[in-house]
Amino acid sequence: MVSLTFYGGANEIGGNKIVVESGKSRIFLDFGQSFSLLDDYFVDWLKPRERFGLRDYFALGLVPRLRGLYCRSCLATTDLEFCEPEYDAVFISHAHYDHAAHLQYLHEEIPIYMGETAKTILKATQETSKTFFFAEEDVYDKKGNLVAPKNDVRTFRTGKKISVGELEITPIHVDHSVPGAYGFLVEGKDARLVYTGDIRAHGNRADLTDDFVSKAASFEPDALVIEGTRVAGSEARKNHTERFVKEESGRIAKKAKGAVLAMRYPKDLDRFRTFYEVAKESGRKLVVSAKTAYLLRALRGDEGLPLPDPFSDGNIAVYSREMLRYESWEEEMRSRCIGVEWVAENQGEVIWELDFAQLTELIDAKPERGGVCIHSMSEPFEEDPLSQLQDDVLRNWLGRFGMEHCQLHASGHASRQDIEGMIKTIKPKRLIPIHTQKAEEFGKMHPRAIMPEKGKKIELR
Ligand SMILES: [Zn+2]
Ligand SMILES: [Zn+2]
Repeated sequence: MVSLTFYGGANEIGGNKIVVESGKSRIFLDFGQSFSLLDDYFVDWLKPRERFGLRDYFALGLVPRLRGLYCRSCLATTDLEFCEPEYDAVFISHAHYDHAAHLQYLHEEIPIYMGETAKTILKATQETSKTFFFAEEDVYDKKGNLVAPKNDVRTFRTGKKISVGELEITPIHVDHSVPGAYGFLVEGKDARLVYTGDIRAHGNRADLTDDFVSKAASFEPDALVIEGTRVAGSEARKNHTERFVKEESGRIAKKAKGAVLAMRYPKDLDRFRTFYEVAKESGRKLVVSAKTAYLLRALRGDEGLPLPDPFSDGNIAVYSREMLRYESWEEEMRSRCIGVEWVAENQGEVIWELDFAQLTELIDAKPERGGVCIHSMSEPFEEDPLSQLQDDVLRNWLGRFGMEHCQLHASGHASRQDIEGMIKTIKPKRLIPIHTQKAEEFGKMHPRAIMPEKGKKIELR
């Protein structure tokens, strides 16, 4: 008997956390953070008390109270006892927080599987920010006490079958807004299931998604667990492709009289490439942050991702902010970076990748009127007051410096039409929508659509 239990991702966008069981074998597909749940209780400076590990998370129902799943240190100040692992593995589909953030709480003896690229991205992220996903070495505090034993991280390649007890898991590459994304084909004792992870069919690597969909179809699954981020009753948002974003950005960059700012999601390296090519073709230099440079360098050896070296490619300049002190990873690269004076002097000849959180850099760069900001991220949602507020703040900054605002984005998630096409091709016996707020819409797409409920087991046989 194969069963599925959804501890996250059911009727919400993100936070995927799915237990697949076959006999005594139990694995998790993804181990993410549910943002919508967290936002119910926390805002601004009101945050969970991380010093108490999972205490606040358990009390508020933000993570499931499951035995044999969490690490010793994060249970130490809770009422759940630490014990031997009761799960055999965790498989991570890709390196986004809503799929991988809770790895930091995982029992150190439970193996973690992910793609090589996802591992490099998570590692670079934890080296350049205050996040933690996994330890590659035992971590000690200043007194020499072991605070985090090293995790057992194993990497996979597309098509490589992995056996975990009664379960056989085959990762297959898909296209998404972060490189190194996978879906999984999972075979248990008497049932097969397909999990898409996050997926799209309109990016630069639609061929990966096509490959996944055709392999998923030949697998003849009993259930398809499919994401539905963009499935809505009526589609109000635009359905742009990466190619369109490139053409439009090219037009904007050629026309702009001053600086071009570009805002994108930090791990979206397809969008990085888009801006890199636009910069090259419009005779501008792409200015990237030190964090982006660090990530690009970490991914240099990745064969599937021919990315430029930020320090030797003449079309790129690496920007280091003026700080009172620098972290060692940034200090080490500073002699090869440019500062704000350079950007100020060359502002008509740059595409400057600037994060929302670093808009204050504009104060020193003093952009002249006539510049443009390409906001290459999701549009603000009406239902999300915080995104509306950020949009207002961004527009105030741009207004202050006489810069135009352009919304231009291609989503990391498939359109409803593409989702319907995948379901038609894969022909699963059952359909389980996840990573969506409109699960009920899937009832119109398949006669046996099952709406997952948090913590409730779904049996496939
Ligand atoms: Zn996601
Ligand atoms: Zn994602």
